[in-house]
Amino acid sequence: MPGVYISWPFCPQKCTYCNFASGVFPAELQARYLERLIEELRGHEWQWTPETVYLGGGTPGSMPEEALERVLSLVPGRPWKEATLEAAPGAITAAEAKAWMRCGIGRVSLGVQSFAEEELRRTGRRHTAEGVERDVRALREAGIGNINIDLIAGLPAQTEAGWRKSLEWLRRLEPPHVSVYMLEIDEDSRLGREILSGGGRFGAAAVPPEDRIADFYEMAVDFLENHGWRRYEISNFARPGFESRHNLKYWRLEPYAGFGADAHSFDGVWRAANTDDVRAYAERGPMPERTQADLAGERYLTGLRLMEGVEFREEDEARFGAAVRRFLDLGLLERHGPRIRLTRRGVMLSNEVFEAFL
Ligand code: SF4
Repeated sequence: MPGVYISWPFCPQKCTYCNFASGVFPAELQARYLERLIEELRGHEWQWTPETVYLGGGTPGSMPEEALERVLSLVPGRPWKEATLEAAPGAITAAEAKAWMRCGIGRVSLGVQSFAEEELRRTGRRHTAEGVERDVRALREAGIGNINIDLIAGLPAQTEAGWRKSLEWLRRLEPPHVSVYMLEIDEDSRLGREILSGGGRFGAAAVPPEDRIADFYEMAVDFLENHGWRRYEISNFARPGFESRHNLKYWRLEPYAGFGADAHSFDGVWRAANTDDVRAYAERGPMPERTQADLAGERYLTGLRLMEGVEFREEDEARFGAAVRRFLDLGLLERHGPRIRLTRRGVMLSNEVFEAFL
């Protein structure tokens, strides 16, 4: 069954590395955005009952309970099989965690990024490792045990010791799901612009070199796999049974409907993307742009992100046969029964592999 994505692009502060259309906006804009979001949800003709809901952004954990309830009451199917809320770590109260439970949230994703103080300070995050520990306790006491923690390899001033400290904290907190991303240098983030222009603000001069970032990522893969988290997607690791049902829909080309600024939808044939301009959304609504999906290419692009890989079908031979054989010869892809998947080296060079399927 399909999933629902809801975007809440408001954050208490703008992180230096963030390239999302999210940020700090006036409260009055937030109120107008909420009304537009409710309009969009009310106007949707549900052809199916959603199985999963994902509230991302942004920091939907900062939504007042009343707003969260108004939004979620418009999504049919509660209790859903999985309902995730992204939250800022460091100050989750018992009352908030209980309110989320009342609204039907059963999974919380914490954008921790690092447990090392030096790294946190430079990226503009305000939490501490002990604060995250208190969050996890509050969530568990409220009955939310399905917790994800995000880490970023390659933050400014990251050292091997700092990275190891972050990994050790995962072992201490035992979240059943972990996401590890490699820092992306993107001109849409303040840090990215600083690096690209050769400046030194936001710790730009202290960003580790690319091969070091790759080493940190590999270190995380070994650490997590040695401690019982299984990598099921390039950046995602889970205890058995805790894989994100919602995110799997994206990679398996299953349908989903998105609501809010920069939310995307896919009905199996068409993709639609709402405007990513938060102010424009609050004024004029979603203004979606539709494009027809290239299902054959996307099946490889998204499916190869998964460790289960994709089935190589006869009809793929003409378009992708040569590329698949080349990557098999180079040791970037491997066969696994009727499927092909990235090798460990292939994961590190996945952007080059994906380009061939665009
Ligand atoms: S990284 Fe997350 S919390 Fe930070 S500005 Fe971006 S969306 Fe907001």
